[in-house]
Amino acid sequence: MMSDRLTPTAISRVLDRVLHTVQKPARYTGGEWNSVVKPWDQIPYKIALVFPDTYELGMSNLGLAILYDIVNRQPDMLAERVYAPWLDMEAVMRREGLPLFSLETRHPVADFDIVGFSLPYEQLYTNVLNLLDLAGIPLRSAQRTSAHPLILAGGSAAYNPEPMHAFFDAFVIGEGEEVLLEIVRAYGDWRESLHGQPEASTEARQDLLRRLARIPGVYVPSLYAVSYAADGTLRAIQPLVPEAQLPVVKRIVPVLPPPVTRFIVPYLDTVHNRAAIEIQRGCTRGCRFCQAGVVYRPVRERPVDEVLAAIDAIVADCGFEEVSLLSLSSSDYSAIGELVRRIVARHGASKLSIGLPSLRIESFSVELMDLLEKGRRRSGFTFAPEAATDRLRDVINKPIATEALLRVAEEVYARGWTTIKLYFMIGHPTQTAADVEAIADLAWEVMKIGRRVLGGKAKVRVGVSTLVPKPHTPFQWCAMADEATIRAHIDLLRQRLRGRNFHLNCNDPRATLMEAFLSRGDRRLADVIERAWRLGAKFDAWEDVYRHDAWMQAFAEHGLDPDWYARRERPLGEVLPWDHISVGVSKRFLIEEYRHALQGAVIDDCREHCFSCGILGQFKALRRAAPDAAWGCPPLGRGKERQPVDVHPIPLYYNEEMSPNLAAVAGPRVPQRARRRADLPQPVPK
Ligand code: SF4
Repeated sequence: MMSDRLTPTAISRVLDRVLHTVQKPARYTGGEWNSVVKPWDQIPYKIALVFPDTYELGMSNLGLAILYDIVNRQPDMLAERVYAPWLDMEAVMRREGLPLFSLETRHPVADFDIVGFSLPYEQLYTNVLNLLDLAGIPLRSAQRTSAHPLILAGGSAAYNPEPMHAFFDAFVIGEGEEVLLEIVRAYGDWRESLHGQPEASTEARQDLLRRLARIPGVYVPSLYAVSYAADGTLRAIQPLVPEAQLPVVKRIVPVLPPPVTRFIVPYLDTVHNRAAIEIQRGCTRGCRFCQAGVVYRPVRERPVDEVLAAIDAIVADCGFEEVSLLSLSSSDYSAIGELVRRIVARHGASKLSIGLPSLRIESFSVELMDLLEKGRRRSGFTFAPEAATDRLRDVINKPIATEALLRVAEEVYARGWTTIKLYFMIGHPTQTAADVEAIADLAWEVMKIGRRVLGGKAKVRVGVSTLVPKPHTPFQWCAMADEATIRAHIDLLRQRLRGRNFHLNCNDPRATLMEAFLSRGDRRLADVIERAWRLGAKFDAWEDVYRHDAWMQAFAEHGLDPDWYARRERPLGEVLPWDHISVGVSKRFLIEEYRHALQGAVIDDCREHCFSCGILGQFKALRRAAPDAAWGCPPLGRGKERQPVDVHPIPLYYNEEMSPNLAAVAGPRVPQRARRRADLPQPVPK
């Protein structure tokens, strides 16, 4: 787009003068190894990829790195990066009249054709507004014309797009790899069709939005009307034009695209200063609090050879000393043993360190980590039981017996790790004070084992967060715990977990409340978000910057109650603000799972039995097109037995304390665990 904004040369001139006055100037210089600079004037389609938080966080976001790679591989497109300037830099930019600019060529963001925001979490919403303002782009979609860039968003927070509906022209629901290119092509067709039309036209803009709405997985909020009942709940969400899909079904890729291997190498330390390879997308464990476990279904695995080749290429192209293998549940990657063995054979003698997060609490995980970290300093081993009693772990469908956890803890200390990190959540449905006490008891048990094995060197770090019942999970109907209860439970843990080598970290309940009302909110929150930003809220994920007062004032001014959104149990029949967004998992399955939770019933990993969550029905054609080994779901029409959720023996077992009668009928959980372990790759010999 043509503009009378500052040129890149003029922007550079100002930066030369001011950058030495701000913290970490390397956040704003660009020019890093592997960044892609294309000739601006020769490329027809220009896309700014924005991470609305600091450079250090944004550079660690794999989703944006994937899109950057995909777009820059297209000869007629360029992608450049934009991050949120920190407060000091923002003050300088506003003082100097500097617009928000890209790192690669320093073009103003408003000069791009498409601006795509990554929204992995809700605390970024006010930063989006701040960045649009810094870019000189009208905040609201309705105020923009065809002369403005198209403003898009995608990422986990977009699974409930409604609170931000007013600010984005369109949302990408699901995986963006293919959709983004389709959007650019649709944009190109639209631009060609513009001959003779005025530059700044709202009608032309409307035409573009209707074209985008035809692309599967694209949600254009302005093409839907929302109505409310007298009690403030939603009555309906209805399309206004034929192009608007209902529901908008998320997009997935049938097979994981080739991994990024030319990572940009930063000049300053970032949050995850390493390369990352996604070994598997999706998770079949079915933890009931976990949004990622639902929205990233189905499981798709990357072949071992592809992972190994990517590690080699990353070492050659980037020089990173650390590569992280990403997955929601690494232990469930079907060839995890083989992968680790072959990595160790190839890179064991080098300085390359391999991160393998999200392992299950079992001996096999300790074996794997032992192999990967041989000869290196061992800092911490992480367990995420999420609840401290067997009963509550059944409610959340993360069944691991306390006894087994303690056995693994002993192994961890015995093999030389000095610190065990334990992650828990408080506020799960049916949780009692005894379940919270049990967190302290369990942490002390682990510490006692550590002291027995290692003496005074043993450390335990405990992280406690509060459950935010997230959209699209079986807990989406639950209320978040009230603040007094959360504070009482945190106080209890603070009192109980004092002592040498204990470290306790708890989330601020006010920040959790914000995450809850934003993730569970409806369209009325757009005004609240804008008001909170105008009152000074930004960088809401940063504890020392977060302005709770601004949020509360914004709610009060709009006559809304944050607790109504966050702490209200919702009846199963209520229309939820995200009901028109489909992640492919049926509501029927989520309701069954909610009921199972309240009964303390556990279901197994769905690689063992398919529970007909809805994914296979939704993505039948893609499943047929993908090789059988690529998906964790069974092949269609053959192979594994399908297990409908409403037929015995589901749930696989019931917690005896909660459902004594059903426990007798359904039997113990042991057989599934044992059979699964028999199928696992054997532990690698030391
Ligand atoms: S379709 Fe079956 S196997 Fe696939 S994610 Fe759903 S329950 Fe699991």
